[in-house]
Amino acid sequence: DSADVVILGAGPAGLVLGNLLRAAGVDCVILERAAREHVQTRARAGYLAQHTVSILERHGLAEGLRRRGQEHAVCEFRTEDDRFRLDYSLLGKGEQHWVYPQQELVTDLLNRYLTAGGRICFQTGAEAVRDFGGTRPTVDVRDADGRPGRWHARYVAGCDGRHGAARRSLPAGAVRRYHRDHAVTWLGLLAQAPPSLDAVGYAVHPRGFAGHMARSPEVTRYYLQVPRGTAPGAWSGERIWDELALRLGAAAHGPLRSGPIVQRAVVDLESDVLEPLRHGSLFLVGDAAGLISPSAAKGANLAVLEAEILADGLTAALRHSDPGPLDRYSAQCLAYIWRAQEFSHWMIRLLHAEPEAGGAQDGADGGSPFQDRLRHSRLQALRSSRTQQDWFAENYVGL
Ligand code: FAD
Repeated sequence: DSADVVILGAGPAGLVLGNLLRAAGVDCVILERAAREHVQTRARAGYLAQHTVSILERHGLAEGLRRRGQEHAVCEFRTEDDRFRLDYSLLGKGEQHWVYPQQELVTDLLNRYLTAGGRICFQTGAEAVRDFGGTRPTVDVRDADGRPGRWHARYVAGCDGRHGAARRSLPAGAVRRYHRDHAVTWLGLLAQAPPSLDAVGYAVHPRGFAGHMARSPEVTRYYLQVPRGTAPGAWSGERIWDELALRLGAAAHGPLRSGPIVQRAVVDLESDVLEPLRHGSLFLVGDAAGLISPSAAKGANLAVLEAEILADGLTAALRHSDPGPLDRYSAQCLAYIWRAQEFSHWMIRLLHAEPEAGGAQDGADGGSPFQDRLRHSRLQALRSSRTQQDWFAENYVGL
């Protein structure tokens, strides 16, 4: 089997790339390890930035989002004794988010790709990418029944996430890996419950961080900082709601609307960037290129942006024999990735006390008392300084 571009993975990165290449008349195929049902129901991101919506709109991919997504522009920070709100549509560049669950975006992109005649093979996992140093790379695959196969390509786009075959196929020594474990763990929860605030809620509490993010009128995502190593099922539903209420200050600011917890996942906050993102005819895109902690909701937004940049490069190379844009892909994307990493890191340090170097950790959430005072001072600056607020808004929504 062969295609000019073989795309590994049908997440936001792979599906945006597939749609854009098809629209440009570039021959491509998407190979996806999971079944279609799984891809369309995997709940992850929810906040899409203005520039992401602009990209989707530019290519006619934003119809569902425009119909069912909700505009959103307010976040609320809570501490034990206080709270304040920022309407970021009035700050910085005046941009806002759209709340649209990732699985719905993925479903829209997939339907659109298939309607346009796009080729996709589900339950086809890439095992290894070979010969990408030259111009005829191949991809070894295995289907759901374990039967091996091989795809021939001119270019391979690794959109298969952090644990995918694209990353695994890079020889040691060919890449520089930048990795940071932020020493913070979140229990990510999806509750079958209406949102409790009309804002994104960030609670900075001595017992640890708690977050509230609307997903739809019926579903809300919550996050609770938990000790490293906590199992997803370790906390009962009752304990989760009690802890959320305590950290989000429900007694002072109004009760939470509770409901069954329908999904739980433990997320260790980590950052991981590979350089460069191009290896001959193999490109890394989305989470395969750089993992970013979910603290600033950037991952899906970066994936869409990188997919557009790569689609332009592949189209220029394959349709117009112009290799220039592909040569610039890695440096261009890395500039966005590091900008997002820097802001995400800042958010992590705003929301969690930093563990003391050398291990002194006597704060309740694992951080040192000194770092805890710094964190409160940072929050105070965000509350009172318009300059800080403009900087926050520009980075929170933008890239
Ligand atoms: P993925 O969505 O991971 O897609 C990769 C695809 O490749 C998958 O379908 C997988 O099955 C497939 N695959 C894997 N291995 C192989 C293989 N060997 N062969 C073939 N296929 C393979 N980001 C935001 O922007 N905003 C948010 O609000 C936000 N919230 C988040 C909340 C949580 C709890 C988490 C975990 C993440 C969140 N993110 C958020 C991050 C966002 O979900 C990811 O960055 C995004 O999914 C990356 O898209 P991707 O296409 O690169 O990878």
